[in-house]
Amino acid sequence: MSQNIQSVRGMNDILPEEAEFWEVFEETVRSWLRSYGYRPIRLPIVEPTPLFSRAIGEVTDIVEKEMYSFTDSLNGEQLTLRPEGTAGCVRAVIQHKLAAQQPLRLYYVGQMFRHERPQKGRYRQFNQVGVESFGFTGPDIDAEQILMGARLWDDLGLEGIGLQLNTLGQPAERASHRAELIAYFEKHQELLDEDARRRLYTNPLRILDSKNPTMQEMITEAPQLMSHLGAESMAHFEGVQQVLRDTGIPYVINPRLVRGLDYYNLTVFEWVTDRLGAQGTVCAGGRYDGLVEQLGGKPTPACGFAMGVERLVALVRESGGAPETEGVDVYLVHQGEAASRLAPRVAENLRDRGIDVLFNCGGGSFKSQMKKADASGATFAVIIGDDEASVGEVTLKSLRAGEGVRNEQKRVGVDDVADEIMDSFLDLEEEA
Ligand code: ATP
Ligand code: MG
Repeated sequence: MSQNIQSVRGMNDILPEEAEFWEVFEETVRSWLRSYGYRPIRLPIVEPTPLFSRAIGEVTDIVEKEMYSFTDSLNGEQLTLRPEGTAGCVRAVIQHKLAAQQPLRLYYVGQMFRHERPQKGRYRQFNQVGVESFGFTGPDIDAEQILMGARLWDDLGLEGIGLQLNTLGQPAERASHRAELIAYFEKHQELLDEDARRRLYTNPLRILDSKNPTMQEMITEAPQLMSHLGAESMAHFEGVQQVLRDTGIPYVINPRLVRGLDYYNLTVFEWVTDRLGAQGTVCAGGRYDGLVEQLGGKPTPACGFAMGVERLVALVRESGGAPETEGVDVYLVHQGEAASRLAPRVAENLRDRGIDVLFNCGGGSFKSQMKKADASGATFAVIIGDDEASVGEVTLKSLRAGEGVRNEQKRVGVDDVADEIMDSFLDLEEEA
């Protein structure tokens, strides 16, 4: 016997009931992005593997163990399903010289792939909304991107998402901190786990990002980068904080916030909630001034962030701020030969007028069709029997009388149905 094929572990179907939340989320996100002047860019899911190893860094969780990579069997090219969006976005900006003339604000929405251990809030296929800016040097854009987050949580009706902020300085400043950090970790060799030992000399900063509970105390005591920062880096950091104070956005400085990707410098931030268990970071980002040049473009300052859609939709659902999914306006009931020939035309005429119609497909008695009409949540039933059809009329019946519509059941001419429906919607004054 053959077994049913199941979806790949960690790659989930989003069923209609949940997908409706996603659509409302996406609509909110799109209008929010427009309100900050960000423009869409659509990027491939598959990119050459070296793009990610060069951009994200060889000694990172993502590149070391999380990428879905394969060899194109036709030409032997090494390819990878994108684990994040920034690298591909930067590639596109360089390839099409998008930032050559003037600064840019871009966003994308889509699936990312990481070979992680699936658990709540952590999947192998997940979605991000990514926001990137190119060509801006000052702290104002970093601050703007942080303000954007605060506004979106508000637009989504979410509370309790806190901002963590840090600065990673510039590469030279990190180098001097690095030496001190290595010496410190060497002193605590016995506490380092396998990952940390492996990274001790290649990427010691990343050890600070470890989630291993047995290392936390030691990490908290580790030497801090902040004391290695020069005046310029400090001024940039202060500039970001100034805007946050002026606009009343609370934040916490977290010196351990180093991010899991190598390309960041100066400002880094995360938005975190304690309502999702261990996977509490819903949005993360920062500045990456070196990346465009590192990938072969002209030096271009840049700053961006990515949000985890699964985690945010889970929060929206959990906080009950959910959009009610409304039924359609009309369920179209029809029975009999003449009626069923008239019905599609009536339905299309209604749609011409902007009225949503759920058309009864598959026949059935009036009684069973009316049951489906009730269950559909439609506001009206438009009923056509051969009686009606023979005189060019339909029956209009309110299914949700009182909920914003008049209670009625009446015969109306085929050409008047749309107007009658429009008239039946009570305006607010009438209702009150
Ligand atoms: P984490 O520390 O949770 O592994 P990360 O630093 O790897 O996160 P980023 O690369 O910064 O995550 O991605 C930005 C956001 O995308 C995260 O804050 C999170 O909301 C979401 N995200 C990352 N990985 C996953 C995943 N495997 N499943 C679902 N969402 C994810
Ligand atoms: Mg991760």
